[in-house]
Amino acid sequence: MLGQMMHLPLSIIEILRFSAQNHPKAEIVSVRTEGDVHRYTYPDAFKRVAQLASGLKKIGIEPGDRVATLAWNGYRHFELYYAIAGLGAICHTINPRLSSEQMSYITKHAEDKVLCVDLTFVPLIEVLKDQFAEGTIYILMTDRAHMPESKVDFLCYEELLEDEPNDFEWATLSEETAAGLCYTSGTTGNPKGALYSHRSTVLHALTLSVSLAKTVHEGAKILPVVPLFHVNAWGLPYACPLAGASLIFPGPALDGKSIFDLMDREQVSSAWGVPTVWLGLQGEIAVRGRNPEGFTSVIVGGSAVPRSMIEVFEKSGVMVCHAWGMTEMSPIGTHGILSAHHEETMSEEDKLDMKARQGRRAFGVDLKIVDEAGVIQPHDGKAIGELYVRGNTVINGYFRNDEATRTVIDSDGWFATGDVASIDAEGFLTIQDRAKDLIKSGGEWISSIDLENIVMGHPDVANCAVISIAHPKWDERPLLVIVPNGEARVSKDQVDKMLLKQVAKWQLPDAIEFVAQLPLTATGKVSKLTLRQNFKDYKLPDIV
Ligand code: AMP
Repeated sequence: MLGQMMHLPLSIIEILRFSAQNHPKAEIVSVRTEGDVHRYTYPDAFKRVAQLASGLKKIGIEPGDRVATLAWNGYRHFELYYAIAGLGAICHTINPRLSSEQMSYITKHAEDKVLCVDLTFVPLIEVLKDQFAEGTIYILMTDRAHMPESKVDFLCYEELLEDEPNDFEWATLSEETAAGLCYTSGTTGNPKGALYSHRSTVLHALTLSVSLAKTVHEGAKILPVVPLFHVNAWGLPYACPLAGASLIFPGPALDGKSIFDLMDREQVSSAWGVPTVWLGLQGEIAVRGRNPEGFTSVIVGGSAVPRSMIEVFEKSGVMVCHAWGMTEMSPIGTHGILSAHHEETMSEEDKLDMKARQGRRAFGVDLKIVDEAGVIQPHDGKAIGELYVRGNTVINGYFRNDEATRTVIDSDGWFATGDVASIDAEGFLTIQDRAKDLIKSGGEWISSIDLENIVMGHPDVANCAVISIAHPKWDERPLLVIVPNGEARVSKDQVDKMLLKQVAKWQLPDAIEFVAQLPLTATGKVSKLTLRQNFKDYKLPDIV
């Protein structure tokens, strides 16, 4: 027997309509590429989104068209998210840190009709223009006064909105309609597209605002340092208006000082981003000897968060939530918000250990781990296997890429994450490594993440990464690459002593190398692939 309930399609524009009515005082504050700060409310945004939708329609945008963006975190980018989706078109966010080959590949693969760009990227577009499809429409996200001389024929964003009505007749769309497109940065092969729907996006926003209600709530001020060009800034442009939280968009300057000043000025309550960003902020906090005003929580993920980083924040009264997810998962998969009984019964040290793991699944995301033979492993905290996921916010295939899809979707419809993990009886996930980053020594696995997390606790280490080096006897052995914190160079003996408290002797790195900086991927993570290439001819000390 079926229930007798109405079925209204889930729709992205409904989030903003709701927010404009129910949270009229919450703000969107943006550091603009023009150099000043812009602020307005959700009702203002909703009106401008209507104007933008009219403007986009006039230049020929139709349902199903791909409209690409190459832009920082700011209110115009936010407006594009909603106007494009509201028209039934698809907002394709491009990561500006991709190589020009990758950028031209994805714009061709996506068949973008329009490219909306921030002022910063005018020189880039001028160089790359010939690689984009003929007939592409270019929109510059600024006003008439800031339009530069350019050989590219840009339309002016603000002129597109001018004179348009501030209400729009939003069409009713099937909730399965595609709304957003984001390509994974793809360390190997061509980037692959995750195509989000209205349904998956709204469900993700609901899940996020419930799971992380301690941070995303009415009156909160949220800083997404995580970019709008990477997995929809982890869903914040949807979850914040839904919950009534203000959004503080940082624009292009993401160094520790700029972030500190912005947080202090706007009294940001919760800041979201990858660990590398928080290394910068912690450096600035150390210089000033205090936290930014109003700072109460940090949500960090995208790569493993060292326990030492969590400890520094927690000891200064800032709650850390370590989250795990993927572009293919919209992205939130798990989060480390502890339950009341953990808070009440666990020691501070045990809580830190727990927070250094990747947390428990969000509602609607199922997790399983399987061994190399495909056998499902128990959730006992010991068994390790490849992590598979499924849920309404997980892709069921890559955009126009059946070949890649076949390699990631198993016969039961689960998505293979490529991460190797264990899950304990309470459901806490521990990511051991990316499968391709694990080090196989004499048939046993060594987790690079485990070693890195411990070494990061040393005061003379600013950053570090462990990679595998080929070894004639053991197949692979770990090499520790360190970015020193100042002049002092930590010795191999000191590192070994630290590590031996938690790992076995055979897991110790064979050697240490010092570098000025670690190579980063387009999404700000350490690129182990590049690092392995940089050290491909490296000879470990015991090998002649
Ligand atoms: P992306 O699709 O670029 O967001 O990358 C997703 C991948 O980043 C995951 O498959 C993990 O390998 C890694 N990742 C994300 N969050 C974490 C985390 N909290 N700890 C360890 N690895 C993570």
